Amino acid sequence: MIGERPHPWDQPDPDTRPDVVAVLTTPQQVVTGLVVSPAQRHVYCTGCRDARSEGQEVTVYAYRCVDPAAWDVAQCYCPARAPADVETPTLGAVECLVTATLGQRSFPARQTHRLCLTDVELLAVSPPTEGTDP
Ligand SMILES: [Zn+2]
Repeated sequence: MIGERPHPWDQPDPDTRPDVVAVLTTPQQVVTGLVVSPAQRHVYCTGCRDARSEGQEVTVYAYRCVDPAAWDVAQCYCPARAPADVETPTLGAVECLVTATLGQRSFPARQTHRLCLTDVELLAVSPPTEGTDP
């Protein structure tokens, strides 16, 4: 339900998921701070395999399926290899393509840091009602 009218199939079922509260927000807000890599210092471009690190610009494809309701970064690109749109939209998934600057997110309890997305700008979005079956 990002950037569109709420659709019944993208709403938590109150009978089976009474613990989930739905909110309306923007793709930029959802993916800001999202961790892009389990590695601490680099993420690799899907197109050319070059390493990207803190302070560098990336283009990211992120998505969320209806269940589980969690966003994930599936692909990360350098500016030279970045696609201009969500190339193969998937039915049932909210997908977005954004540009961002890589930052660091701290996890004090684990005494570690992870690369995350900052200064996010939306390039394209595909709602769950568009695309082909996965
Ligand atoms: Zn690249």
